[in-house]
Amino acid sequence: MTSPSTVPVLELEDVTRSYPGGVQALRHVSLTLHEGELVGIVGPSGSGKSTLLHLMGTLDRPTTGRITISGHDIATLSDRQLSALRGRAIGFVFQHFHLAEGLTATENVATGLLYAGLPRHRRRVAAREALDRVGLADRAEHLPHQLSGGQKQRVAIARALVNNPALVLADEPTGALDSFTGHSVISLLEDLHTQGTTIAIITHDQEVAARLPRRIEILDGAVWKDTGTPQGWAR
Ligand code: ADP
Repeated sequence: MTSPSTVPVLELEDVTRSYPGGVQALRHVSLTLHEGELVGIVGPSGSGKSTLLHLMGTLDRPTTGRITISGHDIATLSDRQLSALRGRAIGFVFQHFHLAEGLTATENVATGLLYAGLPRHRRRVAAREALDRVGLADRAEHLPHQLSGGQKQRVAIARALVNNPALVLADEPTGALDSFTGHSVISLLEDLHTQGTTIAIITHDQEVAARLPRRIEILDGAVWKDTGTPQGWAR
């Protein structure tokens, strides 16, 4: 039997995704993400990145092929079991932050723990800790409209992290930010990776992708290039 630490966080084996009308958005994609990796998934508009993100995030199922998350084959799970796995294992960061306007930063981050079964007080404490990790302890009681774009994205990253997910999936996390702020958000994700978080960043920005230790390039629904898990990678 394989020991838990060698089980990949995510594995796609020969995955295709077709849409009605005959569009093959993904064709025979195979890739493996190991614990602790920081990977950029890059490709032009229409190449299949969103489709891939949905599959990696278990928001969608493949037409053919196999996807496992921390060793769980998603084909064997009911929709309900899949939602539970997603809630536990995956944190999402979106281009436009997706914060609830009427909730403070702390309350927004605490929503990342709604399925963790923790009492409210514990959720708040954990949310404060996560805000501290992203450098926003002093904005904990601010509402989203009182925060800059970069600060909002930090709140969203704290929400993605608060449940210690196996994988953080960031979908164009710098897309709504100016380049200086975008760089600081990527630096934050790099810091979190250094502390052990497994992160995949989907981007069309080659400059963002270029600074990441591993890059997977998608073109016409297929993996065009994968620089691979850095040599000697072991955790
Ligand atoms: P990207 O995120 O890289 O822009 P997408 O994954 O959104 O690419 O799209 C990949 C291809 O699949 C495109 O040709 C797109 O038009 C097509 N596509 C995406 N979603 C759908 C859908 N729901 N129905 C039909 N075709 C789709």
